[in-house]
Amino acid sequence: MTRKVTIRDIEVINTAPEGINLTVVKVLTSEDGLYGLGCATFAYRHEAVTTYILKYLKPLMIGRDVSAIEENWALMHQNAYWRNGGVENNAISGIDLALWDIKGKMADMPVYDLLGGAVRKAVPVYRHVDGASVEEIVDQVQYYQSLGVRHLRVQSGGYGGGLDMRAPASAPRGALDGIYLNSREYIRKTVALFDKLRERLGFEMDFVHDVHERITPAEALTLGKALEPYQLFFLEDALPLDQTAWFQHFRNQCAIPLAEGELFNNPAEWRQLIVNHLIDFIRVHLTQVGGLTPARKIAILAGEFGVRTAWHGPGDMSPVAHAANIHLDLASPNFGVQEWSGIEPPNFVIQKLNEKKGALLEVFDGLPEFKDGYVYPNDRPGLGVTINEKEAAKYPCSADVTTWTQTRGRDGALVLP
Ligand code: MG
Repeated sequence: MTRKVTIRDIEVINTAPEGINLTVVKVLTSEDGLYGLGCATFAYRHEAVTTYILKYLKPLMIGRDVSAIEENWALMHQNAYWRNGGVENNAISGIDLALWDIKGKMADMPVYDLLGGAVRKAVPVYRHVDGASVEEIVDQVQYYQSLGVRHLRVQSGGYGGGLDMRAPASAPRGALDGIYLNSREYIRKTVALFDKLRERLGFEMDFVHDVHERITPAEALTLGKALEPYQLFFLEDALPLDQTAWFQHFRNQCAIPLAEGELFNNPAEWRQLIVNHLIDFIRVHLTQVGGLTPARKIAILAGEFGVRTAWHGPGDMSPVAHAANIHLDLASPNFGVQEWSGIEPPNFVIQKLNEKKGALLEVFDGLPEFKDGYVYPNDRPGLGVTINEKEAAKYPCSADVTTWTQTRGRDGALVLP
């Protein structure tokens, strides 16, 4: 017999244990002690998301049946009439994930069991390496190889523009500050880097490279073709979401596997790419599309068209969402690889700088565990993650306006970040 359990209250917990704003939503129910956690992290807009949840979604959802996940998702999605905004989708995701967590606890099953059961025991992940020189990058690759990692995203100097925020001497006089990108130099260096890596390390490692939408479609195609001999696992976000119609042109000329989607928040953005076989991997950001409810549908749709999943897994995502990614990966036959930005062990650069890492583990418990290149879920009911609210309160979020998105081309005009 179905238990009638309703939403009693909704709380928002903002915390930045490692300097990145994280937003966790706690949905409390009519049953004592039964609650769920969700992730609504939009690191650069956390106060807007918090307001959206507390002022608009909470009054809408109090008293609703926790088991009606589809009904509740649609209710939230269409409530504001205008749909699919980033703030809105993240806010909805916070509640959606919490409802899946509650459903798992009620069923006494991990979420991957609710999704049809695990088709694999653990999830292969890709980690990030980034260095100023080939030597530095080879060191990092070998470090991760020693940890059993088989997939690595390799960058040199971030996404091609470095980290210096000052206008270079080559910019016009009076040019504004920002991260300046010389796209031709970036392409040349990236091709040379993979050439050296394959020469030094052979072809065993699966390498990924993230273009991060920063160059023109023609430049992206030039890069993709030049990288073909190095057999990348995939090229990530080669085109901006506004220019994905160019993928047809790209596909006709280049064999490099393509992964796209971390900025998507509207079904119109992924549907055509999947059904027309224009990408090999769909990699949406789970909270940015509205949570597990839409993400599992994307996974199923992609599977029907031979497209694999590679969900976005950055540092600006709470452990609750990382766990949700892992549950979905475990239950998806068409899973490809999971981005894992390094909850544990500490990422190489931080370890080298000898900075304190690990505050995340003081705030959150039950994180999926990294071991020998794979991430394992815990088998607790629901998503399996808990938060220590007293610890979380020690790490307040910052409302500073971010600046890294001010990327500029050589003439000083803004280009996409
Ligand atoms: Mg990326």
